Amino acid sequence: PQLINQIAAGEVVERPSSIVKELVENCFDAGANQIVIEIEQGGTRLIKIRDNGCGIEKDDLSLALSRHATSKIASLHDLEQVVSMGFRGEALPSISSVARLTLISRVANVDCAWRVSADGSERDFNPQPDPHPQGTTVDVRDLFYNTPARRKFLKTEKTEFAHIETVVQRLALSRFDTGLTLLHNQKEILTLKPAVTDVQQEQRIAGICGSAFIDNAVKIDFEASGLRLSGWVGLPTFSRSQQDMQFFYVNGRLIRDKLVSHAIKQAYQDVLFQGRHSVFVLYLTLDPALIDVNAHPAKTEVRFREGRLVHDFLFSALHRSLANIRP
Ligand code: ADP
Ligand code: MG
Repeated sequence: PQLINQIAAGEVVERPSSIVKELVENCFDAGANQIVIEIEQGGTRLIKIRDNGCGIEKDDLSLALSRHATSKIASLHDLEQVVSMGFRGEALPSISSVARLTLISRVANVDCAWRVSADGSERDFNPQPDPHPQGTTVDVRDLFYNTPARRKFLKTEKTEFAHIETVVQRLALSRFDTGLTLLHNQKEILTLKPAVTDVQQEQRIAGICGSAFIDNAVKIDFEASGLRLSGWVGLPTFSRSQQDMQFFYVNGRLIRDKLVSHAIKQAYQDVLFQGRHSVFVLYLTLDPALIDVNAHPAKTEVRFREGRLVHDFLFSALHRSLANIRP
Protein backbone atom coordinates (compact mmCIF):
# COMPACT_ATOMS: atom_id res chain seq x y z
CA PRO A 1 0.00 0.00 0.00
CA GLN A 2 2.91 2.38 0.63
CA LEU A 3 4.05 1.99 -2.96
CA ILE A 4 0.57 2.74 -4.26
CA ASN A 5 0.35 5.77 -1.98
CA GLN A 6 3.68 7.03 -3.26
CA ILE A 7 2.55 6.60 -6.85
CA ALA A 8 -0.62 8.57 -6.08
CA ALA A 9 1.53 11.14 -4.31
CA GLY A 10 3.25 11.74 -7.64
CA GLU A 11 -0.04 13.12 -8.93
CA VAL A 12 -1.39 14.81 -5.83
CA VAL A 13 1.80 16.08 -4.18
CA GLU A 14 3.74 17.86 -6.87
CA ARG A 15 5.32 20.36 -4.49
CA PRO A 16 4.65 21.98 -1.08
CA SER A 17 1.92 24.22 -2.47
CA SER A 18 -0.12 21.22 -3.62
CA ILE A 19 -0.14 19.96 -0.03
CA VAL A 20 -1.35 23.36 1.17
CA LYS A 21 -4.17 23.26 -1.38
CA GLU A 22 -5.36 19.80 -0.36
CA LEU A 23 -5.18 20.53 3.36
CA VAL A 24 -6.97 23.88 3.17
CA GLU A 25 -9.69 22.31 1.00
CA ASN A 26 -10.17 19.79 3.80
CA CYS A 27 -10.62 22.68 6.26
CA PHE A 28 -13.28 24.17 3.98
CA ASP A 29 -15.05 20.82 3.76
CA ALA A 30 -14.97 20.62 7.57
CA GLY A 31 -16.90 23.90 7.76
CA ALA A 32 -14.02 25.86 9.31
CA ASN A 33 -14.20 29.65 9.34
CA GLN A 34 -10.70 30.20 10.78
CA ILE A 35 -7.61 28.66 9.23
CA VAL A 36 -3.98 29.20 10.22
CA ILE A 37 -1.25 28.09 7.83
CA GLU A 38 2.29 27.90 9.17
CA ILE A 39 5.10 27.30 6.72
CA GLU A 40 8.81 26.82 7.32
CA GLN A 41 11.50 26.81 4.67
CA GLY A 42 9.12 27.06 1.74
CA GLY A 43 7.08 24.15 3.10
CA THR A 44 9.85 21.56 2.83
CA ARG A 45 10.55 21.62 6.56
CA LEU A 46 7.03 22.28 7.83
CA ILE A 47 3.47 22.77 6.64
CA LYS A 48 1.12 23.05 9.57
CA ILE A 49 -2.54 23.84 9.09
CA ARG A 50 -5.01 24.34 11.91
CA ASP A 51 -8.75 24.82 11.53
CA ASN A 52 -11.78 25.23 13.78
CA GLY A 53 -13.99 22.90 11.74
CA CYS A 54 -16.02 19.86 12.77
CA GLY A 55 -13.02 17.69 13.62
CA ILE A 56 -12.59 13.94 13.18
CA GLU A 57 -13.87 11.31 15.62
CA LYS A 58 -11.16 9.37 17.47
CA ASP A 59 -12.17 6.12 15.78
CA ASP A 60 -12.00 7.70 12.32
CA LEU A 61 -8.49 9.14 12.62
CA SER A 62 -6.65 6.13 11.23
CA LEU A 63 -9.28 5.79 8.51
CA ALA A 64 -8.57 9.37 7.40
CA LEU A 65 -4.99 8.26 6.67
CA SER A 66 -6.08 5.22 4.71
CA ARG A 67 -6.36 5.19 0.99
CA HIS A 68 -9.72 6.01 -0.63
CA ALA A 69 -11.34 6.34 2.78
CA THR A 70 -13.18 9.55 2.07
CA SER A 71 -16.02 10.44 4.43
CA LYS A 72 -17.50 12.71 1.80
CA ILE A 73 -19.09 10.40 -0.72
CA ALA A 74 -20.41 6.88 -0.43
CA SER A 75 -21.53 6.02 -3.95
CA LEU A 76 -21.23 6.78 -7.63
CA HIS A 77 -24.42 8.75 -7.35
CA ASP A 78 -22.77 10.96 -4.71
CA LEU A 79 -19.84 11.54 -7.05
CA GLU A 80 -22.24 12.98 -9.60
CA GLN A 81 -23.60 15.38 -6.99
CA VAL A 82 -20.39 16.19 -5.18
CA VAL A 83 -20.38 19.57 -3.45
CA SER A 84 -17.32 19.11 -1.24
CA MET A 85 -13.84 20.08 -2.41
CA GLY A 86 -12.47 16.60 -1.70
CA PHE A 87 -13.94 13.24 -2.68
CA ARG A 88 -11.04 11.01 -3.72
CA GLY A 89 -9.73 10.15 -0.24
CA GLU A 90 -6.19 10.38 -1.54
CA ALA A 91 -4.61 13.48 -0.06
CA LEU A 92 -3.76 12.42 3.49
CA PRO A 93 -2.46 8.93 2.61
CA SER A 94 -0.45 10.33 -0.31
CA ILE A 95 1.10 13.10 1.79
CA SER A 96 1.92 10.69 4.61
CA SER A 97 3.76 8.45 2.16
CA VAL A 98 6.26 11.19 1.26
CA ALA A 99 6.50 13.15 4.54
CA ARG A 100 6.06 12.80 8.30
CA LEU A 101 2.43 13.53 9.03
CA THR A 102 0.70 14.10 12.35
CA LEU A 103 -3.05 14.50 12.53
CA ILE A 104 -4.62 15.96 15.66
CA SER A 105 -8.34 16.47 15.91
CA ARG A 106 -11.17 17.12 18.29
CA VAL A 107 -14.91 17.04 17.65
CA ALA A 108 -17.46 19.01 19.67
CA ASN A 109 -18.50 17.86 23.15
CA VAL A 110 -15.64 15.48 23.94
CA ASP A 111 -13.01 15.67 26.70
CA CYS A 112 -9.90 15.93 24.56
CA ALA A 113 -8.37 15.77 21.14
CA TRP A 114 -6.61 12.70 19.69
CA ARG A 115 -3.43 12.43 17.71
CA VAL A 116 -2.10 9.90 15.19
CA SER A 117 1.05 9.96 13.10
CA ALA A 118 2.34 8.31 9.97
CA ASP A 119 5.69 8.64 8.32
CA GLY A 120 6.64 6.60 5.30
CA SER A 121 6.70 3.04 6.61
CA GLU A 122 6.02 3.79 10.29
CA ARG A 123 2.34 4.19 11.00
CA ASP A 124 1.32 4.80 14.56
CA PHE A 125 -2.41 4.58 14.43
CA ASN A 126 -2.83 4.20 18.16
CA PRO A 127 -4.45 7.55 19.07
CA GLN A 128 -2.81 9.55 21.87
CA PRO A 129 -4.67 12.25 23.84
CA ASP A 130 -3.85 15.86 23.03
CA PRO A 131 -5.02 19.25 24.42
CA HIS A 132 -5.90 20.63 20.94
CA PRO A 133 -9.15 22.69 20.83
CA GLN A 134 -12.10 21.74 18.59
CA GLY A 135 -11.00 21.37 15.01
CA THR A 136 -8.07 19.78 13.27
CA THR A 137 -4.34 20.34 12.86
CA VAL A 138 -2.35 18.58 10.17
CA ASP A 139 1.39 18.82 10.66
CA VAL A 140 3.54 17.80 7.69
CA ARG A 141 7.33 17.70 8.12
CA ASP A 142 10.36 16.91 6.01
CA LEU A 143 8.69 16.61 2.62
CA PHE A 144 10.26 13.97 0.33
CA TYR A 145 12.73 12.90 3.07
CA ASN A 146 12.28 9.34 1.83
CA THR A 147 12.15 10.11 -1.91
CA PRO A 148 15.44 11.93 -2.71
CA ALA A 149 14.73 11.89 -6.45
CA ARG A 150 11.65 14.02 -5.93
CA ARG A 151 13.33 16.27 -3.39
CA LYS A 152 15.79 17.23 -6.11
CA PHE A 153 12.98 18.79 -8.13
CA LEU A 154 12.10 21.27 -5.42
CA LYS A 155 13.06 24.86 -6.23
CA THR A 156 14.45 27.44 -3.83
CA GLU A 157 12.68 28.26 -0.60
CA LYS A 158 11.58 31.57 -2.09
CA THR A 159 10.06 29.98 -5.20
CA GLU A 160 8.27 27.25 -3.27
CA PHE A 161 6.83 29.81 -0.88
CA ALA A 162 5.71 31.99 -3.80
CA HIS A 163 3.73 29.00 -5.11
CA ILE A 164 2.18 28.57 -1.67
CA GLU A 165 1.20 32.23 -1.55
CA THR A 166 -0.48 31.95 -4.94
CA VAL A 167 -2.42 28.88 -3.83
CA VAL A 168 -3.53 30.61 -0.61
CA GLN A 169 -4.69 33.68 -2.55
CA ARG A 170 -6.75 31.50 -4.89
CA LEU A 171 -8.28 29.69 -1.94
CA ALA A 172 -8.95 32.98 -0.15
CA LEU A 173 -10.97 34.23 -3.13
CA SER A 174 -13.08 31.09 -3.10
CA ARG A 175 -14.30 31.48 0.52
CA PHE A 176 -14.84 35.04 1.64
CA ASP A 177 -16.48 33.91 4.87
CA THR A 178 -13.32 32.18 6.09
CA GLY A 179 -10.54 33.96 7.98
CA LEU A 180 -7.04 33.00 6.87
CA THR A 181 -3.60 33.58 8.34
CA LEU A 182 -0.40 32.65 6.52
CA LEU A 183 2.99 32.60 8.24
CA HIS A 184 6.41 31.90 6.76
CA ASN A 185 9.32 31.18 9.08
CA GLN A 186 7.21 32.60 11.93
CA LYS A 187 6.59 35.85 10.10
CA GLU A 188 2.99 36.87 9.33
CA ILE A 189 2.61 37.22 5.56
CA LEU A 190 -1.13 37.42 5.08
CA THR A 191 -4.01 37.97 7.48
CA LEU A 192 -7.54 37.96 6.12
CA LYS A 193 -10.56 38.45 8.33
CA PRO A 194 -13.83 36.83 7.30
CA ALA A 195 -15.35 39.10 4.64
CA VAL A 196 -19.12 39.32 4.70
CA THR A 197 -20.22 42.72 3.37
CA ASP A 198 -19.56 43.92 -0.19
CA VAL A 199 -16.99 46.38 1.13
CA GLN A 200 -15.12 43.68 3.08
CA GLN A 201 -15.16 41.40 0.04
CA GLU A 202 -13.76 44.13 -2.17
CA GLN A 203 -11.07 44.83 0.43
CA ARG A 204 -10.06 41.19 0.28
CA ILE A 205 -9.90 41.32 -3.50
CA ALA A 206 -7.91 44.55 -3.38
CA GLY A 207 -5.46 42.90 -0.98
CA ILE A 208 -4.95 40.04 -3.39
CA CYS A 209 -5.40 41.54 -6.87
CA GLY A 210 -4.42 45.13 -6.10
CA SER A 211 -6.69 48.13 -5.68
CA ALA A 212 -6.08 49.14 -9.30
CA PHE A 213 -8.07 46.08 -10.34
CA ILE A 214 -11.03 46.56 -8.05
CA ASP A 215 -11.20 50.33 -8.68
CA ASN A 216 -11.63 49.62 -12.40
CA ALA A 217 -13.90 46.62 -12.06
CA VAL A 218 -17.63 46.21 -12.33
CA LYS A 219 -19.51 43.86 -10.10
CA ILE A 220 -21.69 41.47 -12.00
CA ASP A 221 -24.43 39.07 -11.05
CA PHE A 222 -26.27 37.36 -13.84
CA GLU A 223 -28.63 34.42 -13.79
CA ALA A 224 -30.29 32.42 -16.55
CA SER A 225 -31.41 28.83 -17.18
CA GLY A 226 -30.27 27.67 -13.74
CA LEU A 227 -26.76 29.08 -14.14
CA ARG A 228 -25.39 32.00 -12.19
CA LEU A 229 -22.33 34.10 -12.91
CA SER A 230 -21.19 36.62 -10.33
CA GLY A 231 -17.98 38.42 -9.44
CA TRP A 232 -15.90 41.23 -10.83
CA VAL A 233 -14.69 41.96 -14.32
CA GLY A 234 -12.31 44.75 -15.05
CA LEU A 235 -9.94 46.41 -17.38
CA PRO A 236 -6.32 45.39 -17.35
CA THR A 237 -4.15 47.17 -14.82
CA PHE A 238 -0.85 45.58 -15.81
CA SER A 239 0.13 45.54 -12.14
CA ARG A 240 0.39 41.78 -12.36
CA SER A 241 0.73 39.48 -15.31
CA GLN A 242 -2.40 38.61 -17.21
CA GLN A 243 -2.37 34.96 -16.17
CA ASP A 244 -2.28 35.90 -12.48
CA MET A 245 -5.31 38.10 -12.83
CA GLN A 246 -7.71 35.48 -14.09
CA PHE A 247 -9.66 33.70 -11.40
CA PHE A 248 -12.54 31.51 -12.49
CA TYR A 249 -14.36 29.34 -9.97
CA VAL A 250 -16.95 26.69 -10.69
CA ASN A 251 -18.98 25.86 -7.60
CA GLY A 252 -16.15 27.25 -5.47
CA ARG A 253 -13.36 25.40 -7.27
CA LEU A 254 -10.72 27.33 -9.23
CA ILE A 255 -10.41 25.80 -12.66
CA ARG A 256 -8.74 26.36 -15.99
CA ASP A 257 -10.85 25.42 -18.94
CA LYS A 258 -10.63 26.04 -22.68
CA LEU A 259 -14.34 26.52 -23.17
CA VAL A 260 -14.50 29.07 -20.36
CA SER A 261 -11.45 30.96 -21.64
CA HIS A 262 -12.90 31.02 -25.12
CA ALA A 263 -16.25 32.43 -24.01
CA ILE A 264 -14.58 35.13 -21.93
CA LYS A 265 -12.15 36.07 -24.66
CA GLN A 266 -14.95 36.31 -27.23
CA ALA A 267 -16.96 38.60 -24.98
CA TYR A 268 -13.97 40.85 -24.31
CA GLN A 269 -13.06 41.07 -27.97
CA ASP A 270 -16.60 41.81 -28.96
CA VAL A 271 -17.11 44.68 -26.56
CA LEU A 272 -13.66 46.11 -25.94
CA PHE A 273 -11.17 46.71 -28.67
CA GLN A 274 -9.02 43.85 -29.91
CA GLY A 275 -5.99 42.82 -27.96
CA ARG A 276 -7.29 43.82 -24.57
CA HIS A 277 -6.29 41.42 -21.83
CA SER A 278 -9.09 40.16 -19.69
CA VAL A 279 -8.89 40.45 -15.92
CA PHE A 280 -11.56 38.93 -13.73
CA VAL A 281 -12.59 37.19 -10.55
CA LEU A 282 -15.65 35.18 -11.53
CA TYR A 283 -17.86 32.60 -9.90
CA LEU A 284 -20.03 30.24 -11.88
CA THR A 285 -22.59 28.31 -9.87
CA LEU A 286 -24.62 25.52 -11.35
CA ASP A 287 -26.20 22.20 -10.48
CA PRO A 288 -23.30 19.87 -9.50
CA ALA A 289 -24.88 17.19 -11.68
CA LEU A 290 -23.98 19.32 -14.73
CA ILE A 291 -20.25 19.00 -14.15
CA ASP A 292 -17.77 16.19 -13.72
CA VAL A 293 -15.18 17.26 -11.16
CA ASN A 294 -13.32 13.97 -11.28
CA ALA A 295 -11.43 14.79 -14.48
CA HIS A 296 -7.99 15.17 -12.91
CA PRO A 297 -6.33 14.00 -9.64
CA ALA A 298 -5.50 17.56 -8.61
CA LYS A 299 -9.13 18.54 -9.36
CA THR A 300 -8.14 21.64 -11.32
CA GLU A 301 -10.27 20.71 -14.29
CA VAL A 302 -13.94 20.02 -14.69
CA ARG A 303 -15.97 18.66 -17.58
CA PHE A 304 -19.18 20.42 -18.41
CA ARG A 305 -21.96 18.08 -19.39
CA GLU A 306 -23.67 20.90 -21.35
CA GLY A 307 -20.67 22.67 -22.81
CA ARG A 308 -22.56 24.70 -25.37
CA LEU A 309 -25.05 25.97 -22.82
CA VAL A 310 -22.30 27.04 -20.41
CA HIS A 311 -20.29 28.71 -23.16
CA ASP A 312 -23.23 30.72 -24.48
CA PHE A 313 -24.36 31.65 -21.00
CA LEU A 314 -20.90 32.96 -20.07
CA PHE A 315 -20.61 34.85 -23.32
CA SER A 316 -23.93 36.64 -22.97
CA ALA A 317 -23.51 37.33 -19.24
CA LEU A 318 -20.13 38.94 -19.83
CA HIS A 319 -21.19 40.70 -22.99
CA ARG A 320 -23.89 42.57 -21.11
CA SER A 321 -21.65 43.40 -18.17
CA LEU A 322 -18.73 44.58 -20.25
CA ALA A 323 -20.94 46.87 -22.27
CA ASN A 324 -21.20 48.94 -19.06
CA ILE A 325 -17.46 49.52 -18.79
CA ARG A 326 -16.64 50.18 -22.43
CA PRO A 327 -13.78 52.67 -22.26
P1 ADP B 1 -10.98 13.62 0.79
O1 ADP B 1 -10.88 15.08 1.12
O2 ADP B 1 -10.94 13.38 -0.69
O3 ADP B 1 -12.15 12.94 1.46
P2 ADP B 1 -8.47 13.38 2.22
O4 ADP B 1 -7.38 12.38 2.13
O5 ADP B 1 -8.15 14.79 1.90
O6 ADP B 1 -9.67 12.87 1.33
O7 ADP B 1 -9.06 13.33 3.69
C1 ADP B 1 -9.53 12.08 4.18
C2 ADP B 1 -10.63 12.25 5.21
O8 ADP B 1 -10.10 12.82 6.40
C3 ADP B 1 -11.74 13.20 4.78
O9 ADP B 1 -12.73 12.53 4.03
C4 ADP B 1 -12.27 13.71 6.13
O10 ADP B 1 -13.19 12.78 6.65
C5 ADP B 1 -11.04 13.68 7.02
N1 ADP B 1 -10.41 15.02 7.16
C6 ADP B 1 -9.25 15.43 6.59
N2 ADP B 1 -8.94 16.70 6.94
C7 ADP B 1 -9.92 17.11 7.77
C8 ADP B 1 -10.18 18.33 8.50
N3 ADP B 1 -9.35 19.39 8.41
N4 ADP B 1 -11.30 18.39 9.27
C9 ADP B 1 -12.13 17.33 9.36
N5 ADP B 1 -11.95 16.16 8.69
C10 ADP B 1 -10.86 16.04 7.92
MG1 MG C 1 -9.26 16.31 0.78
